[in-house]
Amino acid sequence: VPETHEARRGRLRAALADSGVDAVLVTGLANVRYLSGFSGSNGALLVTLDGSVLSSDFRYRTQVADEAPDLELLEARECDRALAARAASTGVGRLGFEAHHVTVEAHGDLASAAEGVELVPVGHPVEELRRVKDDGEIDALRAACGVGDRALAALLPTLRPGLTERQVARRLEALMLDDGAEALAFETIVAAGPNSAVPHHQPTDRPLAAGDLLKLDFGARVDGYHADMTRTVVLAPVADWQRELYDVVRSAQRAGRHALRPGAGLREVDEEARSVVGAAGHADRFGHGLGHGVGLEIHEAPFMGPTATGTLDAGSPVTVEPGVYLPGRGGVRIEDTLVVREGGPELLTTSTKELLVLG
Ligand code: ZN
Ligand code: ZN
Repeated sequence: VPETHEARRGRLRAALADSGVDAVLVTGLANVRYLSGFSGSNGALLVTLDGSVLSSDFRYRTQVADEAPDLELLEARECDRALAARAASTGVGRLGFEAHHVTVEAHGDLASAAEGVELVPVGHPVEELRRVKDDGEIDALRAACGVGDRALAALLPTLRPGLTERQVARRLEALMLDDGAEALAFETIVAAGPNSAVPHHQPTDRPLAAGDLLKLDFGARVDGYHADMTRTVVLAPVADWQRELYDVVRSAQRAGRHALRPGAGLREVDEEARSVVGAAGHADRFGHGLGHGVGLEIHEAPFMGPTATGTLDAGSPVTVEPGVYLPGRGGVRIEDTLVVREGGPELLTTSTKELLVLG
């Protein structure tokens, strides 16, 4: 069942009960959206023990009334300062703030706006709440992943040597935007031939050529939620080394998916996949983490990697995306978005992971 924004604010209050603050000033925009429903580009939220006030500016007056009708709106251009002043005037003694979303300059402004109030960094309490998604959030992610799956299915039969990486990227993006994506989840990666060995390659005017590995990493955004999927295909003819590389990454990705369960260590899940890559002799060619949470941001907690701490929770959507990159030759990455579940993960990106040889 989708949770109300008031229920989320209640969970934040409960999470902060022991931190000794009288209120918290939320300034991370995704956190403001999560707790209020407001999706504009300028906003902040003051959550006190017995109420909440949203601040945004004149441009968003109508949008706030639509998206956060249950909240008082304090109209201001500098939302954080206006809310800090409100906190001071209503007797808040210790005001929690999100240090990772406040610049040094903004901190000085908050201190002047809320004279006499002690500013207390409270860590990442809203990001922690956001790790586990409710049904409404997972429905949005499922819809976003479906858009990506359909776009890929429509794209693949049209690919042929001569198209440039940029043309392929624009084609894939148009398919997603025409099929219900409100926006792209991130900048599309289309990387062909040797470029596929660059993990976050930006599409160029390089034409696709016969025998290329072609890596596509892309996603749609639906209702604010970000899908993330990577598939790697080959433009015929396929070489033995490409098949071998693909099989290693596919096995590693399978191992990572199978390790997803509530309570599993974030580092241990990474290691399940990484050990497959290592056993194939490519340990130093998988230089990024195994995966990350997705939601109102494309990269959010939890993060799975060799130095991660903590564990997975049921109801947490994450990616599993090992890659092996051979400089100058090519690389393979395979990425799914899945939801951690008690009985085994739920796959949201359902495009095949068989090696597709096109043409
Ligand atoms: Zn991706
Ligand atoms: Zn990703």
